[in-house]
Amino acid sequence: MAGRLNGKIVLVTGAGAGIGTAAARALAAEGAALVLTDLNESGVSALAAELSKSNTPAIGLRHDVTDETGWEAVFKAALARFGKVDVVVNNAGIAFVGKTEDTTLADWRRMQAVNLDGVFLGTKHAIRIMKGKGGSIINISSILGIDGTGMAAAYCASKGGVRLFTKAVAIECGDAGYNIRVNSIHPGYIQTRMFETDIEAFGSLEAKMQKVSALHPIGRVGQPEEIAAGIVFLASDESSFMTGSELVIDGGYTAR
Ligand code: NAD
Repeated sequence: MAGRLNGKIVLVTGAGAGIGTAAARALAAEGAALVLTDLNESGVSALAAELSKSNTPAIGLRHDVTDETGWEAVFKAALARFGKVDVVVNNAGIAFVGKTEDTTLADWRRMQAVNLDGVFLGTKHAIRIMKGKGGSIINISSILGIDGTGMAAAYCASKGGVRLFTKAVAIECGDAGYNIRVNSIHPGYIQTRMFETDIEAFGSLEAKMQKVSALHPIGRVGQPEEIAAGIVFLASDESSFMTGSELVIDGGYTAR
Protein backbone atom coordinates (compact mmCIF):
# COMPACT_ATOMS: atom_id res chain seq x y z
CA MET A 1 0.00 0.00 0.00
CA ALA A 2 2.97 2.33 -0.40
CA GLY A 3 2.28 5.81 -1.77
CA ARG A 4 -0.59 6.81 0.52
CA LEU A 5 1.16 10.14 1.17
CA ASN A 6 2.60 10.88 -2.25
CA GLY A 7 3.01 14.64 -2.74
CA LYS A 8 2.41 15.53 0.92
CA ILE A 9 4.86 17.60 2.94
CA VAL A 10 4.87 16.56 6.60
CA LEU A 11 6.54 18.35 9.52
CA VAL A 12 7.32 16.18 12.57
CA THR A 13 8.58 17.63 15.86
CA GLY A 14 10.63 15.54 18.26
CA ALA A 15 11.73 13.46 15.29
CA GLY A 16 15.16 12.75 16.77
CA ALA A 17 14.02 9.78 18.85
CA GLY A 18 11.25 7.34 19.72
CA ILE A 19 7.80 7.82 18.20
CA GLY A 20 8.95 10.81 16.11
CA THR A 21 11.70 8.81 14.40
CA ALA A 22 9.35 5.87 13.78
CA ALA A 23 6.77 8.30 12.35
CA ALA A 24 9.37 9.83 10.02
CA ARG A 25 10.29 6.40 8.65
CA ALA A 26 6.65 5.33 8.22
CA LEU A 27 5.67 8.64 6.56
CA ALA A 28 8.67 8.34 4.21
CA ALA A 29 7.68 4.79 3.29
CA GLU A 30 4.29 6.14 2.13
CA GLY A 31 5.84 8.82 -0.10
CA ALA A 32 5.78 11.97 2.09
CA ALA A 33 8.55 14.56 1.99
CA LEU A 34 9.67 15.54 5.46
CA VAL A 35 10.64 18.44 7.68
CA LEU A 36 12.12 16.83 10.78
CA THR A 37 12.74 18.97 13.85
CA ASP A 38 14.15 18.38 17.33
CA LEU A 39 16.25 19.97 20.04
CA ASN A 40 18.70 17.24 19.06
CA GLU A 41 19.95 18.70 15.78
CA SER A 42 22.46 15.97 14.98
CA GLY A 43 19.77 13.30 15.39
CA VAL A 44 17.33 14.88 12.93
CA SER A 45 20.08 15.90 10.50
CA ALA A 46 21.37 12.32 10.38
CA LEU A 47 17.85 10.93 9.92
CA ALA A 48 17.07 13.46 7.16
CA ALA A 49 20.34 12.59 5.39
CA GLU A 50 19.62 8.87 5.65
CA LEU A 51 16.06 9.24 4.29
CA SER A 52 17.21 11.60 1.52
CA LYS A 53 19.63 8.90 0.33
CA SER A 54 16.69 6.55 -0.12
CA ASN A 55 14.72 9.06 -2.21
CA THR A 56 12.69 10.83 0.50
CA PRO A 57 13.25 14.59 0.26
CA ALA A 58 13.90 15.57 3.89
CA ILE A 59 15.45 18.35 5.96
CA GLY A 60 16.45 18.23 9.62
CA LEU A 61 16.29 21.40 11.73
CA ARG A 62 17.17 22.31 15.31
CA HIS A 63 13.99 23.47 16.96
CA ASP A 64 12.74 24.16 20.47
CA VAL A 65 8.94 23.82 20.31
CA THR A 66 8.51 26.23 23.24
CA ASP A 67 10.00 29.12 21.25
CA GLU A 68 7.61 31.00 18.94
CA THR A 69 10.36 32.60 16.84
CA GLY A 70 11.78 29.11 16.36
CA TRP A 71 8.42 27.97 14.96
CA GLU A 72 8.40 30.90 12.53
CA ALA A 73 11.89 29.98 11.38
CA VAL A 74 10.96 26.30 10.92
CA PHE A 75 7.89 27.09 8.80
CA LYS A 76 9.93 29.62 6.78
CA ALA A 77 12.55 26.96 6.06
CA ALA A 78 9.86 24.40 5.20
CA LEU A 79 8.15 26.76 2.75
CA ALA A 80 11.49 27.77 1.21
CA ARG A 81 12.38 24.11 0.58
CA PHE A 82 8.99 22.61 -0.30
CA GLY A 83 6.56 25.51 -0.99
CA LYS A 84 3.85 24.17 1.34
CA VAL A 85 3.18 22.09 4.46
CA ASP A 86 0.24 19.66 4.39
CA VAL A 87 0.61 17.94 7.75
CA VAL A 88 2.08 18.93 11.13
CA VAL A 89 2.72 16.26 13.75
CA ASN A 90 3.11 17.92 17.17
CA ASN A 91 4.99 15.03 18.77
CA ALA A 92 7.82 16.54 20.88
CA GLY A 93 7.19 15.97 24.56
CA ILE A 94 8.77 15.38 27.95
CA ALA A 95 7.73 13.42 31.02
CA PHE A 96 8.72 13.27 34.64
CA VAL A 97 7.07 11.76 37.66
CA GLY A 98 6.73 12.99 41.21
CA LYS A 99 4.27 13.91 43.90
CA THR A 100 2.28 17.08 43.29
CA GLU A 101 3.32 18.43 46.70
CA ASP A 102 6.98 18.12 45.68
CA THR A 103 6.64 19.51 42.14
CA THR A 104 8.31 22.90 41.76
CA LEU A 105 6.54 25.62 39.84
CA ALA A 106 9.51 25.67 37.45
CA ASP A 107 9.11 21.93 36.71
CA TRP A 108 5.34 22.33 36.28
CA ARG A 109 5.86 25.22 33.86
CA ARG A 110 8.52 23.34 31.89
CA MET A 111 6.09 20.42 31.41
CA GLN A 112 3.31 22.70 30.20
CA ALA A 113 5.75 24.69 28.03
CA VAL A 114 6.96 21.69 26.05
CA ASN A 115 3.85 19.50 26.01
CA LEU A 116 1.11 22.14 25.75
CA ASP A 117 2.62 25.50 24.64
CA GLY A 118 4.59 23.58 21.99
CA VAL A 119 1.39 22.05 20.60
CA PHE A 120 -0.38 25.42 20.73
CA LEU A 121 2.43 27.17 18.82
CA GLY A 122 2.73 24.42 16.23
CA THR A 123 -1.02 24.44 15.68
CA LYS A 124 -1.25 28.25 15.52
CA HIS A 125 1.47 28.60 12.89
CA ALA A 126 0.27 25.57 10.93
CA ILE A 127 -3.23 27.13 10.69
CA ARG A 128 -1.73 30.36 9.36
CA ILE A 129 -0.13 28.63 6.41
CA MET A 130 -2.75 25.88 5.82
CA LYS A 131 -5.85 28.11 6.06
CA GLY A 132 -8.07 27.62 3.00
CA LYS A 133 -5.54 25.27 1.37
CA GLY A 134 -6.29 22.32 3.61
CA GLY A 135 -4.21 20.29 5.98
CA SER A 136 -4.04 17.84 8.85
CA ILE A 137 -2.69 18.63 12.32
CA ILE A 138 -1.91 15.64 14.53
CA ASN A 139 -1.30 16.28 18.22
CA ILE A 140 0.30 13.54 20.28
CA SER A 141 -1.47 13.36 23.62
CA SER A 142 -1.52 10.17 25.74
CA ILE A 143 -3.74 7.74 27.58
CA LEU A 144 -2.75 10.03 30.45
CA GLY A 145 -4.66 12.81 28.69
CA ILE A 146 -7.80 10.69 29.19
CA ASP A 147 -7.19 8.83 32.47
CA GLY A 148 -5.40 10.17 35.50
CA THR A 149 -2.63 8.32 37.30
CA GLY A 150 -0.69 8.98 40.51
CA MET A 151 2.72 10.70 40.47
CA ALA A 152 2.11 12.25 37.05
CA ALA A 153 -0.29 15.14 37.61
CA ALA A 154 1.76 17.70 35.67
CA TYR A 155 2.04 15.31 32.70
CA CYS A 156 -1.67 14.43 32.86
CA ALA A 157 -2.57 18.13 32.96
CA SER A 158 -0.47 18.84 29.88
CA LYS A 159 -1.83 15.88 27.91
CA GLY A 160 -5.44 16.50 28.97
CA GLY A 161 -4.90 20.06 27.73
CA VAL A 162 -3.72 18.75 24.36
CA ARG A 163 -6.84 16.58 24.08
CA LEU A 164 -9.38 19.40 24.54
CA PHE A 165 -7.28 22.01 22.75
CA THR A 166 -7.36 19.69 19.74
CA LYS A 167 -11.15 19.39 19.81
CA ALA A 168 -11.66 23.15 20.20
CA VAL A 169 -9.36 23.95 17.28
CA ALA A 170 -11.03 21.25 15.16
CA ILE A 171 -14.35 23.05 15.61
CA GLU A 172 -12.72 26.35 14.62
CA CYS A 173 -10.97 25.02 11.53
CA GLY A 174 -13.34 22.44 10.03
CA ASP A 175 -15.22 24.52 7.48
CA ALA A 176 -14.24 25.18 3.88
CA GLY A 177 -12.68 28.52 4.82
CA TYR A 178 -10.01 26.57 6.69
CA ASN A 179 -10.33 22.94 5.53
CA ILE A 180 -7.96 21.81 8.29
CA ARG A 181 -8.49 18.58 10.24
CA VAL A 182 -7.14 18.46 13.79
CA ASN A 183 -6.96 15.18 15.74
CA SER A 184 -5.14 13.81 18.75
CA ILE A 185 -3.45 10.45 19.26
CA HIS A 186 -3.43 8.74 22.65
CA PRO A 187 -0.68 6.14 22.94
CA GLY A 188 -0.54 3.62 25.74
CA TYR A 189 2.92 3.00 27.23
CA ILE A 190 5.39 2.80 24.36
CA GLN A 191 8.90 1.38 24.52
CA THR A 192 11.02 4.49 23.92
CA ARG A 193 13.56 6.43 25.97
CA MET A 194 10.63 8.13 27.74
CA PHE A 195 9.59 4.73 29.10
CA GLU A 196 12.85 4.66 31.08
CA THR A 197 12.23 7.95 32.95
CA ASP A 198 11.06 6.45 36.25
CA ILE A 199 12.53 2.97 36.42
CA GLU A 200 13.92 3.65 39.94
CA ALA A 201 10.35 3.57 41.24
CA PHE A 202 10.02 -0.01 39.93
CA GLY A 203 13.49 -1.27 40.87
CA SER A 204 14.52 -2.22 37.33
CA LEU A 205 13.52 -1.86 33.71
CA GLU A 206 12.38 -5.49 33.68
CA ALA A 207 10.17 -4.93 36.74
CA LYS A 208 8.64 -1.84 35.16
CA MET A 209 8.05 -3.69 31.90
CA GLN A 210 6.24 -6.50 33.72
CA LYS A 211 4.10 -4.20 35.85
CA VAL A 212 3.22 -1.77 33.08
CA SER A 213 2.56 -4.52 30.53
CA ALA A 214 -0.12 -5.89 32.86
CA LEU A 215 -2.00 -2.57 32.65
CA HIS A 216 -2.64 -3.24 28.96
CA PRO A 217 -5.17 -6.01 28.23
CA ILE A 218 -3.03 -6.97 25.22
CA GLY A 219 -0.38 -7.90 27.80
CA ARG A 220 2.55 -5.83 26.58
CA VAL A 221 3.59 -2.23 26.01
CA GLY A 222 3.47 -0.77 22.51
CA GLN A 223 6.20 -0.15 19.95
CA PRO A 224 6.80 3.26 18.31
CA GLU A 225 5.86 1.82 14.90
CA GLU A 226 2.34 1.07 16.21
CA ILE A 227 1.83 4.80 16.91
CA ALA A 228 3.49 5.73 13.62
CA ALA A 229 0.80 3.71 11.81
CA GLY A 230 -1.88 5.94 13.35
CA ILE A 231 0.07 9.05 12.40
CA VAL A 232 0.24 7.88 8.77
CA PHE A 233 -3.53 7.24 8.79
CA LEU A 234 -4.37 10.71 10.17
CA ALA A 235 -1.91 12.32 7.74
CA SER A 236 -3.52 10.56 4.78
CA ASP A 237 -6.79 11.30 3.01
CA GLU A 238 -8.10 7.95 4.35
CA SER A 239 -9.05 9.92 7.49
CA SER A 240 -10.78 12.69 5.49
CA PHE A 241 -13.97 12.61 7.63
CA MET A 242 -12.09 12.68 10.95
CA THR A 243 -11.57 15.87 12.91
CA GLY A 244 -11.66 16.54 16.64
CA SER A 245 -11.21 12.80 17.18
CA GLU A 246 -9.04 11.07 19.71
CA LEU A 247 -7.32 8.09 18.15
CA VAL A 248 -6.53 5.76 21.05
CA ILE A 249 -3.73 3.26 20.38
CA ASP A 250 -3.21 1.69 23.76
CA GLY A 251 -3.48 -2.09 23.83
CA GLY A 252 -6.78 -1.68 25.67
CA TYR A 253 -5.42 0.40 28.59
CA THR A 254 -8.38 2.82 28.60
CA ALA A 255 -10.97 0.07 28.00
CA ARG A 256 -11.07 -0.77 31.69
P1 NAD B 1 11.33 10.37 23.47
O1 NAD B 1 11.84 10.96 24.73
O2 NAD B 1 11.87 9.07 22.98
O3 NAD B 1 11.47 11.44 22.28
C1 NAD B 1 11.02 12.77 22.44
C2 NAD B 1 11.79 13.68 21.49
O4 NAD B 1 11.30 15.03 21.70
C3 NAD B 1 13.29 13.69 21.74
O5 NAD B 1 14.01 13.53 20.52
C4 NAD B 1 13.55 15.08 22.34
O6 NAD B 1 14.83 15.63 22.00
C5 NAD B 1 12.42 15.89 21.72
N1 NAD B 1 12.13 17.11 22.51
C6 NAD B 1 11.99 17.21 23.85
N2 NAD B 1 11.77 18.48 24.19
C7 NAD B 1 11.75 19.21 23.03
C8 NAD B 1 11.58 20.58 22.73
N3 NAD B 1 11.40 21.50 23.70
N4 NAD B 1 11.61 20.97 21.43
C9 NAD B 1 11.83 20.06 20.45
N5 NAD B 1 12.03 18.75 20.68
C10 NAD B 1 11.99 18.33 21.95
O7 NAD B 1 9.74 10.29 23.68
P2 NAD B 1 8.60 9.47 22.89
O8 NAD B 1 8.22 8.34 23.75
O9 NAD B 1 9.01 9.23 21.47
O10 NAD B 1 7.43 10.54 22.98
C11 NAD B 1 6.90 11.23 21.84
C12 NAD B 1 5.54 11.80 22.22
O11 NAD B 1 4.66 10.71 22.58
C13 NAD B 1 5.57 12.72 23.45
O12 NAD B 1 4.68 13.80 23.25
C14 NAD B 1 5.08 11.83 24.57
O13 NAD B 1 4.51 12.55 25.63
C15 NAD B 1 4.06 10.98 23.84
N6 NAD B 1 3.74 9.71 24.50
C16 NAD B 1 4.72 8.82 24.78
C17 NAD B 1 4.38 7.62 25.44
C18 NAD B 1 5.42 6.60 25.83
O14 NAD B 1 5.08 5.72 26.64
N7 NAD B 1 6.62 6.65 25.30
C19 NAD B 1 3.05 7.38 25.78
C20 NAD B 1 2.06 8.31 25.45
C21 NAD B 1 2.44 9.49 24.81
